[in-house]
Amino acid sequence: MKFVAFSALALATSVSAFSPTAFAPRTSTSLSARKPFIAGNWKMNPGTKDEAVALGKEIAGAFSSSTPCEVALFAPYPFLDATVDAVGSSGVKVGAEMAFTEGKGAYTAEVSVSMIKSVGCNWALAGHSERRTLFGESDEDINKQVLNLLNNDVGCILCIGETQAEYEQGLVGPICTTQLKKNLLGVTPEQMANVVIAYEPVWAIGTGLTCPASEAQDVHATCRSVLADMYGQAVSDTVRIQYGGSVTPETVDELMAKPDIDGALVGGASLVAEKFSRIINFEEAKVSA
Ligand code: PEP
Repeated sequence: MKFVAFSALALATSVSAFSPTAFAPRTSTSLSARKPFIAGNWKMNPGTKDEAVALGKEIAGAFSSSTPCEVALFAPYPFLDATVDAVGSSGVKVGAEMAFTEGKGAYTAEVSVSMIKSVGCNWALAGHSERRTLFGESDEDINKQVLNLLNNDVGCILCIGETQAEYEQGLVGPICTTQLKKNLLGVTPEQMANVVIAYEPVWAIGTGLTCPASEAQDVHATCRSVLADMYGQAVSDTVRIQYGGSVTPETVDELMAKPDIDGALVGGASLVAEKFSRIINFEEAKVSA
């Protein structure tokens, strides 16, 4: 559990806001916990529904009362229903990898928020780098998706992060700042209770290159200060910021020991039940922050 200073504003905000995964119960009015949150992004995997069900069941079996974080699986649309059934009452959440901005109508191949909610999903990703780079989603498109999810009481993991070229030009801070400001435009402080940020350096996604934990911590701290400028320190202190980019059982403990790293968004390793099970059951505070 990561404890942060807590103020009257944050209390008012959190009490009034709907939260699909409420923060852990507070032990006092002077402290608020950011409960770690680790999510698997299955992307366009696995190949069949049976494989998805088997994977969901194995991961759910590894989630227990001693697991130190919330866990969610982001699955392809055709497997959402079956994955919800597979994880059953384990406490593992299932979300969609995206949701289109319109409610219904002539939008061939798109999937709406009401569709994903109707199969038991209260979370979705927005702004994954593959959507930005391969499918041309703009900051404005992503902002519409974020607002649509939040306005329909669905939690949102907003993915941000710089490309390799931007990293090499020293633009990590400005890129993350711009994406946060553009992608969260119009999101209210109350709605931030349903937003998780995933900082994912694009050069680390699926490459085996992990951003060093200390560098990731610096970027997370920068993101938190941008959120403080946008929403005030109290709200910023409650927003969970995940790291994403080639997270493995070998790297998770050091990442999770950092004060502003509140979880992980995991691609490749979330497809291997044994690896993802170790990641969600990371060893708390075994590595000095
Ligand atoms: C991702 O797709 O968000 C991701 C972080 O993938 P990987 O863990 O494979 O780098």
